[in-house]
Amino acid sequence: MTQTADPAPVIRAPRGSHKTAKGWLQEAAKRMLMNNLDPEVAEHPDALVVYGGRGKAARNWPAFHKIVETLDRLENDETLLIQSGKPVAVLKTHEWAPRVLLANSNLVPHWANWETFDRLDQAGLTMYGQMTAGSWIYIGTQGILQGTYETFASAARKHFGGSLKGTVTLTAGLGGMGGAQPLAVKLAGGVSITIEVDPTRIQKRLDTRYLDEVADSLEDAIEKAGRYKAEGVARSIGLLGNAAELVPQLVALNWTPDLVTDQTSAHDPMWGYLPPVAADEDAGHLRAEQPEAYRRRAYEAMATHVRAILELQRRGAVAFDYGNNLRQRALEAGVEDAFDYPGFVPAFIRDSFCEGRGPFRWVALSGDPEDIRATDRALLELFPKDERLQAWLTYAADQIAFQGLPARICWLGYKERDRAALLFNEMVADGRLKAPVVIGRDHLDAGSVASPYRETEAMKDGSDAISDWPLLNFGVGIASGAAWMSFHHGGGVGLGFSQHSGLVAVADGTDDAARRLSRCLTNDPGMGVLRHADAGYDLALDVARERGLDLPSLGI
Ligand code: NAD
Repeated sequence: MTQTADPAPVIRAPRGSHKTAKGWLQEAAKRMLMNNLDPEVAEHPDALVVYGGRGKAARNWPAFHKIVETLDRLENDETLLIQSGKPVAVLKTHEWAPRVLLANSNLVPHWANWETFDRLDQAGLTMYGQMTAGSWIYIGTQGILQGTYETFASAARKHFGGSLKGTVTLTAGLGGMGGAQPLAVKLAGGVSITIEVDPTRIQKRLDTRYLDEVADSLEDAIEKAGRYKAEGVARSIGLLGNAAELVPQLVALNWTPDLVTDQTSAHDPMWGYLPPVAADEDAGHLRAEQPEAYRRRAYEAMATHVRAILELQRRGAVAFDYGNNLRQRALEAGVEDAFDYPGFVPAFIRDSFCEGRGPFRWVALSGDPEDIRATDRALLELFPKDERLQAWLTYAADQIAFQGLPARICWLGYKERDRAALLFNEMVADGRLKAPVVIGRDHLDAGSVASPYRETEAMKDGSDAISDWPLLNFGVGIASGAAWMSFHHGGGVGLGFSQHSGLVAVADGTDDAARRLSRCLTNDPGMGVLRHADAGYDLALDVARERGLDLPSLGI
């Protein structure tokens, strides 16, 4: 009989106001690490994979247990260092220092590629942290829903008179992030067809109400989409299959959507984007036995996929890249005009970044959904004139199913996030909330990312590839009172293409927390404004002047 390995444990974060760690910052870090791996939250918890291809929360199970154990004994003047998912040291620091510092997937630039990373990963020396996986602030698909909605709503404003009603969006990928697309398009009023190769991902999105229905075939999807479009009905359709085959087939059928994009895990050619395989072929076997042949197949498939998107664009569809580096993969495979369609940040999001706006999220450590409902109501009162926020929070409170610890996300900017955080801290202090609240953000962010094919694509001053900014952001968070800070390489777009920093703070109701929150949640979005002001964006310059940033080189 063959010996089987111990099954991976099922992880669920503790709930409630009793903590076993020596401070709420440590307790919060521990619960958020565990929450990232909750089966309701993570895509493949057995493998410690949270989302985004192989984005992991800890290097391996022994490292996970050691982190939990260490956080429980960590003093309030100590800092735990995590090197790509492994706890490597506890250092005496001071009470205002972050309790945890994390560095994920970083490689010296000359070696910053998947080949080197894979070798080191297989040797057990590193881990891919993606964005919020390795920085312990992933909250499930809701985390990206608001951002995805902002993107499609912005596309609607720019191209379709303010609503996606009567339009069809074609996309692919129903994973951790991509799974938000159908609901986001629906919220913006439109119809979507989302191609997904893995039936279990389709089922998950149906179960969590992010997807309405599945088509039986390509023809069925076209028929349904056409009917809903004509009726002006907002509805989402899943389609099982490989995008590299189905998008070209749609082109061949002379069918053109109104919008086309993609959110498969194209950032990772080896483990993310799946090339088409014959019925008698096993993709996993091919990858293990003939990695080079497999990689070539993945690249060819991405080239075919992008050629089809370009053809749809030529026929009138609004095409944009959705932050997964698909264009770059196609370019490497010989599609010279792959960058003829823009990334979503320059196309739709940059103005928000100029105001320091981006995905701001919080999590109720009580585990009680009523705590999130109370924060929803509090924010509606705090920002009565922000129509987008009002619409989103009203919708989200009613419709979004929580995954793991109850959480919420919305977009707030400079001189807004600190106000929200201080309000939450007061609510913890006076008992309106039952336990502390964790406050963090995505790395899809205004001032903490250098990613030339995503967040910093087509910067006005050409500074796309300068990564001093995320490093400064990492330092600013540490200097301003964050509970934990992380610095990552390769999130979103893959190794060699991005560097970014993550920030998490904790509102535990104390005066000390108020001081930390007011500084780090002012300075962090402030980095977004100043980064764009420095690049010469008028809107960012105006925001910097109006909201009181001190920028010596700009005379502000
Ligand atoms: P994921 O790995 O959880 O999901 C990817 C999905 O794509 C999987 O379900 C997989 O089965 C499917 N897929 C792979 N190849 C396919 C193919 N050829 N045809 C059809 N389906 C295929 O990843 P995710 O978390 O959903 O992220 C998707 C991509 O978006 C990643 O590249 C990620 O880096 C990027 N991303 C974008 C944003 C953003 O804001 N735009 C944010 C984070 C991540």
